[in-house]
Amino acid sequence: NKDLTWNEFKSEVELFKEKLLKYNLPKGHPVIIYGHKEVEFIVSMVACMSLGYPYIPIDTIYPKERVDKIFGIVKSSIIIDIIENKIDFDEKNLSTTYFLNDPIIYIIFTSGSTGEPKGVQITQNSILDFQNWLNNDFGLPQNSVFMNQAPFSFDLSVYELVGFLSFGGTIVLNSKDTIENHLEYFERLKKYACNVWVSTPSFISKLLLSSEFVEDNIKSLKTFLFCGEVLPSTTVKRIKNNFPNSKVLNTYGPTEATVATTIVEITPEILEKYSKSLPVGYVKPGTVINLLDIDSENIGEMEIVGDNVSIGYFNNEELNKQKFEKKYEKRSFRTGDFGYFEDNLLFFANRKDELIKLHGFRIELGEIDKELTNNKFIEEAITIPLKRGNEVVKLISFIVSKNDLDIEKLKKDISKNLPYYMVPSDIIILDEFSYNANHKIDKNELINIYKNM
Ligand code: AMP
Repeated sequence: NKDLTWNEFKSEVELFKEKLLKYNLPKGHPVIIYGHKEVEFIVSMVACMSLGYPYIPIDTIYPKERVDKIFGIVKSSIIIDIIENKIDFDEKNLSTTYFLNDPIIYIIFTSGSTGEPKGVQITQNSILDFQNWLNNDFGLPQNSVFMNQAPFSFDLSVYELVGFLSFGGTIVLNSKDTIENHLEYFERLKKYACNVWVSTPSFISKLLLSSEFVEDNIKSLKTFLFCGEVLPSTTVKRIKNNFPNSKVLNTYGPTEATVATTIVEITPEILEKYSKSLPVGYVKPGTVINLLDIDSENIGEMEIVGDNVSIGYFNNEELNKQKFEKKYEKRSFRTGDFGYFEDNLLFFANRKDELIKLHGFRIELGEIDKELTNNKFIEEAITIPLKRGNEVVKLISFIVSKNDLDIEKLKKDISKNLPYYMVPSDIIILDEFSYNANHKIDKNELINIYKNM
């Protein structure tokens, strides 16, 4: 909504701190910030950080039902409403969860598999550890100008936030409308001479088909940084084609381990050597990833142990007992992600919930997707199990293709390489996938499309 110099930013933060101090909140009291990419959002976050109030960023793009659920869990006495330009205060709820030696910086809510939001609490030491890593291992320029796509309620945005603050760089915020208007997005990249791109792979894949999204047109862009989803090699190839002098970084990690835990630059050599499935990277220094219950192919569930691991979910002792543990004096988290190591590089295999059973057969959904995308007319594929209660009743594959494919023939083709029980009952052709607010593929929406057909 406006541009600020560093000096202007500092005065706004100081003014806001004074305003907040009037409420006499106990240190460590959580503060909800509700808004959408306004300058005041960043000002409020930084003010909370420096006063020792954990902030909970909530973007207006989330459905009201989810926002109300989060308000109910947090029971904060204070809500900074940036849209309405007001602060709601209710003295009744003044309590605190302050950790004296290592204060909580933010609590970001992620969705659990049950659909109940879980508040991941990230402390100052984890942020400092992350900042160090970002400074040392990412090779970002000191004059970084970050193009921000993710909402602040998605921890991918912590890359740009911590990045611009610690480099004294620039962050360019983009509203939902700008993000949806590709030409406007390109104009902003040019106007602010952005050099670091941060997004999910899904988000960039749509833009890469535009003839405007090329190095000759947007000369400043030098680094593409990804996290949050599988980075397909076709996406990297297209980036390298459009921006031949750029650097592509793949990173992996759950919100519970402060943004990301592994990183690798996808060089042409790596692209060629691991063309089937790209590595997610080398584990950051000081952190360990253990593979639990390794199978015959050396694939195991990833457990992250290190200072970047969260102290646990907000007010959720039961889940904390299941997911977090102390290990060699550090915190550990069971990710539910499966992976394997090759040449010291970590590879993402699948998620626990992508491993399903249908009529007693164990199926990895990713294998079906891989088989479908082997067909050169299919750009993307995702297979989703349709459930009745907890039981999987059938598989539905959604594919993106510009061609009018013969579904029965396609089923026959894939059944040459897949056992019959892995051939989906239905295959739905779409022009593009639906994406959720975090720009990850929206599986619920795909199921709705299927049900309404
Ligand atoms: P979130 O906490 O919303 O960032 O989601 C984290 C989850 O996204 C991880 O547990 C993985 O399942 C998935 N994920 C994150 N980064 C990658 C990546 N580079 N490749 C594959 N999956 C990823």
